[in-house]
Amino acid sequence: MRVLITGAAGFLGSHLCDRFIQEGHTVVAMDNLITGSTKNIEHLAGNEQFSFIKHDVSNYIFVPGKIDAVLHFASPASPIDYLRYPIQTLKVGALGTHNALGVALEKGARFLLASTSEIYGDPLVHPQKEDYPGNVDSIGPRGVYDEAKRFAEALTMAYYRTHRLQTRIARIFNTFGPRMRLHDGRVVPTFIRQALQGEPLTAYGDGRQTRSFCYVADLIEGIYRLLNSDFADPVNLGNPNEMTIVQFAEIINRLTDNPGGIVFEDKRIEGDPQIRQPDISRARNVLGWEPKVSLEEGLQITIEYYQKTGVNSTDTTA
Ligand code: UDP
Repeated sequence: MRVLITGAAGFLGSHLCDRFIQEGHTVVAMDNLITGSTKNIEHLAGNEQFSFIKHDVSNYIFVPGKIDAVLHFASPASPIDYLRYPIQTLKVGALGTHNALGVALEKGARFLLASTSEIYGDPLVHPQKEDYPGNVDSIGPRGVYDEAKRFAEALTMAYYRTHRLQTRIARIFNTFGPRMRLHDGRVVPTFIRQALQGEPLTAYGDGRQTRSFCYVADLIEGIYRLLNSDFADPVNLGNPNEMTIVQFAEIINRLTDNPGGIVFEDKRIEGDPQIRQPDISRARNVLGWEPKVSLEEGLQITIEYYQKTGVNSTDTTA
């Protein structure tokens, strides 16, 4: 296959590039580099299965030659990033998705949308199943991301129903691993950076809100299977292993021997979901998929990555 990956220089996009190349496919990588970094894909430079086009997919996308699959992963994805780029986030979810679907239609390619657990907002149903319509505040600060992704799902289903395009929707729950930006504000890189600097970990609010963390290799396997399936309805991909932020902080402090402890800060973004856990029965049934890497195993690899790449940079955009 020759696949187009948007957001290819980002955390998930770059791991997808690696996977498709490893499977013998050719990758056309696209990114505007506002939150992605060429550092994530520089090891692929010179590989003849790989090419990179710097482009903002919210503008018309032109790719010469055949394309067999489009994986649309372009978007700011951490709360800090989408609060910094609210309009770009709405544009890439709406216009970017429209352009990426347009490429897929024109080329007769399959299309896979990177959607999100944020579709469910601050959920009133637990764990979250795909048929739960969610509890999103459209005008809250997180609305720019949540509504962009909800619109992207609606547009994807419209292309499926109207044009019979082969579409897939992955609802991705909190995923972590090497290449998350050190200062992207998300809890995993933030806690690891603080721990490796011997500082206290900053739990926001009372730290009793929950998340369920999936290691990146498991997530990529799920995406790969979903693309190759014939299932058009949304599929949750994530690890159901749920814990509070305080419990998560304790694990990080233990794995890094950090004596810094935990401090509580009043920095929760309005609408920060109180609970989040994927129900992955659909992924199990349809894809035969479930996560295999334990939290501690995944965290060890991620901690080693940050030890190697260094945690002392204060550049919040790098
Ligand atoms: N969080 C925290 N301390 C931090 C960063 C985040 O306690 O330094 C909390 C945040 O309030 C949220 C959870 O960790 O409840 C996960 O936040 P993240 O930004 O990683 O992703 P989200 O799941 O909210 O998109």
